[in-house]
Amino acid sequence: MMICLGIEGTAHSIGVGVIKDVKEKCRVLSNLIKTYQPEKGGIHPREAANHHASYIAGLISDSVHTARVDFSDIDLVSFSQGPGLGPCLRTAATAARALSLTLEKPLMGVNHCVAHLEIGRGTVTGCQDPVLLYVSGANTQVIAFAEGKYRVFGETLDVGIGNCLDKFGRGLDLGFPCGPKIEELAKKGTQYLGLPYSIKGMDLAFSGLLTAAENYVRQGKRIEDVCYSLQETTFAMLTEVTERAMAHTEKQEVLLGGGVASNKRLRDMVQTMAKDRGAHFFVPSRDVCVDNGAMIAWLGFLMYESGLRMSLDESLINQRFRTDMVEVTWRD
Ligand code: AMP
Ligand code: MG
Repeated sequence: MMICLGIEGTAHSIGVGVIKDVKEKCRVLSNLIKTYQPEKGGIHPREAANHHASYIAGLISDSVHTARVDFSDIDLVSFSQGPGLGPCLRTAATAARALSLTLEKPLMGVNHCVAHLEIGRGTVTGCQDPVLLYVSGANTQVIAFAEGKYRVFGETLDVGIGNCLDKFGRGLDLGFPCGPKIEELAKKGTQYLGLPYSIKGMDLAFSGLLTAAENYVRQGKRIEDVCYSLQETTFAMLTEVTERAMAHTEKQEVLLGGGVASNKRLRDMVQTMAKDRGAHFFVPSRDVCVDNGAMIAWLGFLMYESGLRMSLDESLINQRFRTDMVEVTWRD
């Protein structure tokens, strides 16, 4: 049995989680998160990093305390090595290196997107070999395991779905993050307004339909109807690509991950698709679905246990760390 501490810091959130492995599953002992809220506009990378730097030391001690362990019990320190915003990644990595050196415990940098998938497998009963629909602010990817790697079967060609919703909401002064507010407004929508449905092969594009939705607002259409149409169109696109990935890979499970997975309408659409296919539908609990330290700790554990080791030289962050760059040594 190992106890691992993970530090997440790819974008707006800094999180520290402590986990232990119990019979090949992940038991979360603590999982604390502080989220940077821009006063206006989107995330400013340097300000987000300053936010993270001001909270990280306190989060580490609080997380160890909440987990009811001692610093000396920690066997491994892991951190989000990428992808993400450079200043934020550097802050989390620096804290992780310092902690690893101080405790004289091994260090492991992990891929954030893979962590979203593994925490589903690690915490949700029955979830073994899913297609992951990973929907967050910056990332939108359909990921599944094939021949030694987590491969990206489809992804956004421009902005992430969360970012698309946030940009739309920013124009309406909804305040960051806008996804939950758009979800509320969409419930009151009654009329579907046509929007471009842009799927290119297995990839998706959101910027064209974002402009079209903004034009509807300018034309004075009901905001509720525009929000409803925006959700219906983008979520249908996401569901279609996910379904096709399931058909190609012949996988019988679908897993949601990322902040937008909180959306009830998206859940319903993907769940309906899964049901029609006779497949299983899974969503991790909210605390491990959003960006969090426990998922980073868990993936660090899996990698370490499979025999991987990381030297300080190898712990440089990688803003463009692709999901399919990771050699998956811990499963087949
Ligand atoms: P993440 O980057 O994974 O932390 O997710 C953050 C993104 O999730 C932001 O773009 C939010 O607007 C979005 N989000 C959070 N809750 C919801 C929701 N209920 N519906 C749609 N988007 C959401
Ligand atoms: Mg994420």
